[in-house]
Amino acid sequence: MRTRPSRPVPGNGKPSARKPERTCIGCRVRRPKDELLRVVRGPSGVHPDPRGKAPGRGAYVHRDPRCVREAIRRGALARALRVDLSPDDLATLRGEIEREME
Ligand SMILES: [Zn+2]
Repeated sequence: MRTRPSRPVPGNGKPSARKPERTCIGCRVRRPKDELLRVVRGPSGVHPDPRGKAPGRGAYVHRDPRCVREAIRRGALARALRVDLSPDDLATLRGEIEREME
């Protein structure tokens, strides 16, 4: 029985980020998650979760209509949340998300 080598310490070259980061599903840029809007698939469907506290699978997008549009256009939102979203669902969701950005 051999002992496993210890994991390499993360942070080679990068400053050690204390803030958790998430990838925007629209433009795929990683940002601290408090700069992104969480969208959650909860028990009652898919909704924006501006406080990031709702239970369920979440996806993150910039508070930028271009990122939202891109996430929807590419199907990235449905994929990230592992859910089927009809065009109607997406239109409703987009409206809800854009309201959160105002
Ligand atoms: Zn983005």
